[in-house]
Amino acid sequence: MNYLVLFGPPGAGKGTQSDNIINKYGFAHISTGDVLRAEMKNGTELGKTAKGYIEAGKLVPDDLIVDMLAKSMDEQKDAKGIIFDGFPRTVAQAKALKQMLAKRGTDVTEMINLQVDDEELIARLVNRGKTSGRADDNLETIKKRLDTYNNETAPVIDFYEQDGKLCNVKGTGSVEEIFERICQIIDKH
Ligand code: AMP
Repeated sequence: MNYLVLFGPPGAGKGTQSDNIINKYGFAHISTGDVLRAEMKNGTELGKTAKGYIEAGKLVPDDLIVDMLAKSMDEQKDAKGIIFDGFPRTVAQAKALKQMLAKRGTDVTEMINLQVDDEELIARLVNRGKTSGRADDNLETIKKRLDTYNNETAPVIDFYEQDGKLCNVKGTGSVEEIFERICQIIDKH
């Protein structure tokens, strides 16, 4: 089993590269953002609660996310590997993931940190907003999401560095070049 944390700021290419990893390695994929958007679409209580946070560019509270993730993981018991996309976004979530995997006698295999500078992220997200239909892909919310990332999510990098799992990957260049860098890391593990 490979438990891959695909990490990076909004717009780093986590979704795009998740698709490539799924195609090549057949891993399952858990994107907490996708699960939340599905909950919102279905009008569930969780979806209604999440909406306010998402549209304000803030993080959904840890307890809600951790419960949601535990359910998604139970649905993926037989997978060859799991890509965690957009999770963990806080150190508390990273610790919860470590505990959940420890109960299964395992741990995160590698954390791939896609590195892209803010100027490029903003350009990519504004561009994505033209077609994504996402309420949070507008300049004002994008800036808030980047602040949230820098204040609350970036410390997760230190957590994985101390845990010996951090693999930095340059997240600029062509999609294929970036994917090649990711494959080298997955193949090593
Ligand atoms: P994403 O699709 O990963 O960009 O996530 C969109 C939004 O969903 C984020 O800006 C957060 O508001 C919320 N979200 C997604 N994943 C998480 C998470 N792991 N923790 C807290 N909030 C999350």
